Amino acid sequence: MRVGRPVKPLPHPDCDYCGALATLARAGDEAYPYRDDHGPLWICAPCQAWIGTFARSTRNVPLGRLADARLRELKVKLHAALEPLVQAKVRRDGCNVFEARSKGMKWLAQAIGVDPDKCSIHTLDADQCERAIAVVEDFEQARENHPSDSAADDR
Ligand SMILES: [Zn+2]
Repeated sequence: MRVGRPVKPLPHPDCDYCGALATLARAGDEAYPYRDDHGPLWICAPCQAWIGTFARSTRNVPLGRLADARLRELKVKLHAALEPLVQAKVRRDGCNVFEARSKGMKWLAQAIGVDPDKCSIHTLDADQCERAIAVVEDFEQARENHPSDSAADDR
């Protein structure tokens, strides 16, 4: 922690794969990977790795670590695996979907040994994503075998 610096340095993530500093790209820039506008992205062009920014962040705070093609695919897979549990919790407990997702991520973080307070789907690396997917699959398997058991998301 540095003392005597009134202005916080801008968050400037580096690339997990090559260590280079990422560049901020906006829709329409040459490096921007999407045709549509998904908001500003931190990109490492040589690694084809990127991460979005918090929607209302004026300082372009990154959502998490830069993700290459493999990690992006794993995040989609994890999201798809978790979503049925999220929807089930919304129906059962009447909570909103964001709350249900956040509880689901906390449950997963604990299960894979990541600090739940610092965990979101965007902070996981490929290895952690794979472990999290396995946890959800195991849970689904156990529920199929014992349909009367209550869900583990209240843990
Ligand atoms: Zn890189």
